[in-house]
Amino acid sequence: MTQNAPFRARAEIDLAALRANVRALRARAPRAAFMAVVKSDAYGHGMVPCAKAARAAGATWLGTATPEEALALRAAGIGGRVMCWLWTPGGPWREAVEADLDVSVSGIWALREVTHAARQAGRTARVQLKADTGLGRNGCPPGDWAELVAAARAAEEAGTVKVTGLWSHFACADEPGHPSVAAQLTVFKDLVAYAEKEGVEPEVRHIANSPATLILPDTHFDLVRAGIAVYGISPSPELGTPADFGLRPVMTLKASLALVKRVPAGHGVSYGHHYVTEGETTLGLVPVGYADGIPRHASGRGPVLIGGERRRVAGRIAMDQFVVDLGPEGDRIREGAEAVLFGPGDRGEPTAQDWAEAADTIAYEIVTRIGTRVPRVHL
Ligand code: PLP
Repeated sequence: MTQNAPFRARAEIDLAALRANVRALRARAPRAAFMAVVKSDAYGHGMVPCAKAARAAGATWLGTATPEEALALRAAGIGGRVMCWLWTPGGPWREAVEADLDVSVSGIWALREVTHAARQAGRTARVQLKADTGLGRNGCPPGDWAELVAAARAAEEAGTVKVTGLWSHFACADEPGHPSVAAQLTVFKDLVAYAEKEGVEPEVRHIANSPATLILPDTHFDLVRAGIAVYGISPSPELGTPADFGLRPVMTLKASLALVKRVPAGHGVSYGHHYVTEGETTLGLVPVGYADGIPRHASGRGPVLIGGERRRVAGRIAMDQFVVDLGPEGDRIREGAEAVLFGPGDRGEPTAQDWAEAADTIAYEIVTRIGTRVPRVHL
């Protein structure tokens, strides 16, 4: 797609902003290595170009959830350290070992499968042991840690495994002062000390996500793993705006008006007629909908910049389209006019955070769910 050709919808990805965000984040954790989290298609921004940009800005580690995502990075020619942390039954573990990925395990069953894959591959698997220090999600609970460490040490002795990392994940790092942060840190330090006493020599110990990278320097250890902040979005509006942290949103989502029409007063708009025009007005049709990841929950509320003015979605967001009331003077706006759903926010356009509030969700979900039908244009 050339830059000026007409288009239905597109997500412009500002890779210079992404690189600057990585540099700003690294400056906040100067003694730690930096992992750019590029799972879920780089939070919807396009995994491979974003991974390459992050690497260029000094991300020596890349992080994904699934091994398939990590293998896709390798297939795109991306070398260096890549960690995947969502162990699942039946995953391509042999390929993961052969591709020199760092694979996370949270329990004995996973460790056994990775060990088996290493034997098949005739290689030593890089394994990172994940502790559940209080998130209550993935991770080995403290009560099972000794057994996991013993099994990992035995696998190290047998040459099938090298434990490269000890790590965990916060539950509430985006809530300043939340007592669980200190509690998780204490448990983490204890579990790390125990594993090291048992002979584990990890290259990296890590627990910090974006909010911890931004505001909790005593959580940085050897490596920080930042996702949302790499894409220039604040982990939580309570912590501050992106600009407060020297970050800039990377994605701008645009569509072109597909139809502009004059309608009389009393005209019902979209399914259910939840919006009815008050007077004669002009309606603009924005050709994106919930199939493109525009949250239906933002019906009647989602903000859009059209013709230099902020407007709201009128009525229900449908699968492929929604309507905006351009007002009585709106017929000066023509088909093909640009509708900016969100962007950095400094040209009058809404932000992903504005959409998150309109849809009662988090900005992570807004950008990550933009569908594959919307081309990403990397600038
Ligand atoms: N580490 C792990 C294990 C994750 O699952 C995630 C994302 O959910 C991150 C780091 C990055 O989190 P954030 O996007 O808040 O920086």
